[in-house]
Amino acid sequence: MPLIHLRGENMIDNGIKRVLLVSNSTLYGSSYLDHAESEIRDFLGNVGRVLFVPYALYDRDAYASTARERYRAMGYDMESVHEASDPRRAVNEAEAIFIGGGNTFRLLKSLYDFDLLDSVRLRVEGGMPYIGSSAGSNVAGPTIRTTKDMPIVQPPSFDALGLVSFQISPHYLDPDPNSMHMGETQEQRILQFLEENDTTVFGLREGAMVRVERGSTVLKGSSGARIFRKGYAPAETLPGENLNQFISPNTPEVRQMEEITATELKQRLDGGEDLQIIDVREPDEYEIARLENSKLIPLGQIVNRMDEIDPARETVVHCQGGKRSAKAIEALQRAGFAGRLVNLKGGITAWSDEVDPSVPKY
Ligand code: ASP
Repeated sequence: MPLIHLRGENMIDNGIKRVLLVSNSTLYGSSYLDHAESEIRDFLGNVGRVLFVPYALYDRDAYASTARERYRAMGYDMESVHEASDPRRAVNEAEAIFIGGGNTFRLLKSLYDFDLLDSVRLRVEGGMPYIGSSAGSNVAGPTIRTTKDMPIVQPPSFDALGLVSFQISPHYLDPDPNSMHMGETQEQRILQFLEENDTTVFGLREGAMVRVERGSTVLKGSSGARIFRKGYAPAETLPGENLNQFISPNTPEVRQMEEITATELKQRLDGGEDLQIIDVREPDEYEIARLENSKLIPLGQIVNRMDEIDPARETVVHCQGGKRSAKAIEALQRAGFAGRLVNLKGGITAWSDEVDPSVPKY
């Protein structure tokens, strides 16, 4: 059987490819795959049986039984590739594949040992749905160079499946400004990667996922992703955003952000101007303090609920201090929102300080 050597960059995105890359299998406060269940079901649709790849963990039997039980609860049968007498054949005949998390080096080494990389690539190119979680998401990228795992074993190469043209950095953790730990942050590690390489990296926070389908790459889940590209400042992205623009060579840049102070806003409102005020904080914050006539759309929902904002009216976006609203404006602009968006400088806190001290500060 001749080996057709397909590398990520040569893979044709014919629009048939379907890939779901999940940052983590268990989200704090819930059980195995709970946070991804609705996305997995929606992604797999009427697939009957899923092939599991347990190689990232040492105890493959135990891992397979956990995954099998969980997929059964979602209504899917599951077989594990480690139980198959001919693993390549199992891949060739699979309806869908799920590669679980664990140690990324161990996973990739096994994929090489069992000579499965080309089979998986060909099947995914032909439309077989691919779900990866954590290490299983890492190996979907061109290489595994952005894992934080220890190289506990040595695969013959760091080149991975290359199903997508970007790197994943799963379990992305924002730097803690109060931490006294002096080791590199995940951001620093990724920036070091970009000093040596020129591939976009998606820092997927826990709870985040990327779904590739019909040629688009959409951020799903709850927690957003930080995108790193050589030569650009890191970008914050929100659920619902199409991330294709970060992986295409001609990325449209975000427009200059307009700002308004609380005092100016008050004057314009008093002057009778028709301004639409969007509050991107959380419902519990809105309960504590709010601006009159403002509409609440929490940051995490802003892209998916973009059609609730009237592009014909000038829109002032605010949060507590001005940071989340800036992220919301950038995300809306990238998503193609056509209207004028203005950030309230200093957020509702500035409003309490400058305009109306009766609005509680928190
Ligand atoms: N060890 C992680 C996982 O599979 C992968 C990573 O952090 O890169 O859970």
